[in-house]
Amino acid sequence: MKLKYFYNFSGRCSPDFSLSRFDSMLVKDGKILATGRQLPCPEAALANDLEGAVLLPAFSDAHTHFLQTGITALSFDLTDYSTPADLLEFISANLLSKKLFLAYNLSSSFFSPPKNPPITKFHLDKISTKHFIWLTFDNMHAAILNEAAIKWATSILKRDDFHIEGKVTGKDYMQIANNLHDYLPKSFLQNALKTVEKTCFSKGVAYVHAMEGSSFSNMTSKIVGEFFKKSKLKGSIYNQSPDPSFPIKMGWKQMGGCILADGAIGSRDAALNSPYEDTKENAPLMLCADEIKNIIKAASKAGLQLALHSIGDKTNDVVSSLYNWTAQTHNTGISNRIEHFILPSNKAIRNVISSKAFISIQPSFDYFWGGSDGLYAQRLGKTRERACNPFKTLLNMGISLAGGSDSPVTPIDPVLGIHAMLNHHNSDEQVDLNSALNVFITEPHKILPSPLADTELKEGADATFTLFDIDPFLVSSSLFKDIEVKALYIGGEKVY
Ligand SMILES: [Zn+2]
Repeated sequence: MKLKYFYNFSGRCSPDFSLSRFDSMLVKDGKILATGRQLPCPEAALANDLEGAVLLPAFSDAHTHFLQTGITALSFDLTDYSTPADLLEFISANLLSKKLFLAYNLSSSFFSPPKNPPITKFHLDKISTKHFIWLTFDNMHAAILNEAAIKWATSILKRDDFHIEGKVTGKDYMQIANNLHDYLPKSFLQNALKTVEKTCFSKGVAYVHAMEGSSFSNMTSKIVGEFFKKSKLKGSIYNQSPDPSFPIKMGWKQMGGCILADGAIGSRDAALNSPYEDTKENAPLMLCADEIKNIIKAASKAGLQLALHSIGDKTNDVVSSLYNWTAQTHNTGISNRIEHFILPSNKAIRNVISSKAFISIQPSFDYFWGGSDGLYAQRLGKTRERACNPFKTLLNMGISLAGGSDSPVTPIDPVLGIHAMLNHHNSDEQVDLNSALNVFITEPHKILPSPLADTELKEGADATFTLFDIDPFLVSSSLFKDIEVKALYIGGEKVY
């Protein structure tokens, strides 16, 4: 590849991204040959004027459901439909020509009465029993299906007691959601993958952790793995099965992902130490301690890093103490990771520190559901709401936090994630801009041996970086989310 010379920019690096460290750079075969101030342009080089942009190492997203993000993007969005009448009218109006009505972001307010009478399969069957109608809730942990979709789901689950009036939750939901790709045309899936790749690039993301597959099927892991081989986007796959054999076969160093130790707060199936504020009820763990222990043992025996989904304080206590037990008794040298860790007790935080576990956070959860009148407060009460997503506390304790989105639960958008960290609803948990940038730039590469491990933009590193028209350090934190990525280069090539 031709020698490239980049000039006229303000080059920034960790740990203090506010300092301008270099303004010119030489790149060959995708790697940085040299950075410096006013480097001369070699005669043979192709010169690229970056027009005074601020240049940062590219972002990562440490928790995506990659294929699902693409499928969701190509499906109907129910965000704006808050009453049953509006929702049913929208479905009827869009059903005419298509056999498939796949929709996402159904408001959690449809989950149970009394706020809105829930939509059931009977409402959907009145519209059509022939079309395949599937409405996924906004937390991606439950859906409402009509007769045709239930018929298909029955063939996957091989039983018919998995739904209540069409509502499918928990493990059954995960199983059918992870098999949905079988029902979708190949061209639709390829289009879905291209769509999410484009989103990543437009948001400055060059590397993702993709949580794919399930204990029932490795197919989405295979599909996404093949896609990463061809794409400029770099990705590591966590196969969401307790069985390590497929990742071993693929030569991956990691397994797990959203293997659900519990559910979500919105759908009230995250397991808590005290009941939910609004229903006075509680939820059990989705895996018992012995099951979790066996998964951890299997992963550590295989020498693989394990990621487990854990949200409620009860679940965080169990998962973190089992991680700690493994670290103390088996000494594998592998740091496992906890996905979400939304409501951690002090005990769970201590266990994370002593087990050296990584925490995979989704700061946008606080942006969407935090605050004294947000979803967390409704479900948990104000005191526990303030204890959710304690980013500053965790960072102060020296815990490594890797930023992600859990896309499609929240969008792939590190700028929004950083905004959420700067503007946390609980002001005690707000973090400074350098820390927030590190969560989305350097930390995701520390979790795994990464193809882009060197985010320092020094000699020998990948020439993978984002450009901004505006210096992020000159933007007020309340407006941070409005910053746009001007360009993304991966291996010296412009992809956005
Ligand atoms: Zn997830």
